[in-house]
Amino acid sequence: MRKTLLTLFFPLLVVVQAQQTPDSPLNIILLIGDGMGLSQISAGMYVNNNQTILEDFSVIGLSKTHATNSLVTDSAASGTAMACGEKTYNGVLGINSKNKKLKSILEICEENGYNTGLIANSSIVHATPASFYANIDSRYKYEKIALQLSESNVDYFIGGGKKYFNKREDNRNLIKEMDKIDVVKNFNAYKKSGSERIGFFTFNDEPPSIIDGRPPLLGKYLTATLDKLNKRIEPFFLMVEGSQIDWGGHANDIEYITSEFIEFNEAIEVSLNFAKNNSNTLVIVTADHETGGLAITMGKTKGYEIVAGFNTGGHSATMVPVFSYGKFSELFGGIYDNTQIFHKMTEALGVD
Ligand code: MG
Ligand code: ZN
Repeated sequence: MRKTLLTLFFPLLVVVQAQQTPDSPLNIILLIGDGMGLSQISAGMYVNNNQTILEDFSVIGLSKTHATNSLVTDSAASGTAMACGEKTYNGVLGINSKNKKLKSILEICEENGYNTGLIANSSIVHATPASFYANIDSRYKYEKIALQLSESNVDYFIGGGKKYFNKREDNRNLIKEMDKIDVVKNFNAYKKSGSERIGFFTFNDEPPSIIDGRPPLLGKYLTATLDKLNKRIEPFFLMVEGSQIDWGGHANDIEYITSEFIEFNEAIEVSLNFAKNNSNTLVIVTADHETGGLAITMGKTKGYEIVAGFNTGGHSATMVPVFSYGKFSELFGGIYDNTQIFHKMTEALGVD
């Protein structure tokens, strides 16, 4: 009745999306290029006709990536350092070197009324995304990590690894058990879903590389997710991973690295444009470590051809860059431990 009267007397009353101002609560978009050192960025930039959207970032820092038990980190220890603010040993997620459970920035945001999302080009249970919701002594316990995701409060997720949810040794079907999450079958359904929590498994297993046919959709996944988050009243925390820059480094395959970087570059551009239009947004782009000990040793300025050399099939301990843009971006200049990425985010959020 009340509604009818309102419509009667105020026929022009429309719902207008709340205007985001610099004083609105802070949104954070954290983009992690796995294995994306300066050489990977340089190689991707030259192959991309000497351009990267990273050139639009004015605040740049350097992050020291070592783990507690090794100068050369893995993605689990460095993911945990950035997500939870403590160095730990290689191979573990969301626990410190004394086996104490840690709370991640995503969980802290959830506790403060935020909506949250995770988007990755790997499986969603892989070390980097899992650093934000899992607490476990081995990054390789994928089915247990899947269970932890299903029990988490993550609102939106896109990634591979469906089989860890519905083809499990314990015969549980977590997709059915996640009854508060609309788990959709394809990207169109993801875009159309009006649910406040949505999951989209892009592949049953690990997604293939772009070279092997994965469509380069990271920017589009991000755009669709930002559209959803931006319609909500609450602020958000979103982590987006260019997962396979690392896998190209392990394979010592420069085309693998540059094709994955160029897709990641598109996602960075989407984030930057969002932050330009929503001044309460902080964008951080960094890496968990460098992979391959990559150097560009020769090349041509005509057509920006590059010749690459690698030092290892593993990771290296070189510092990695941190690019930031938007509200509180000035916090991210300088040289600091990767744990400071967490602490600078909590400082920006005012929950330190
Ligand atoms: Mg990763
Ligand atoms: Zn790696």
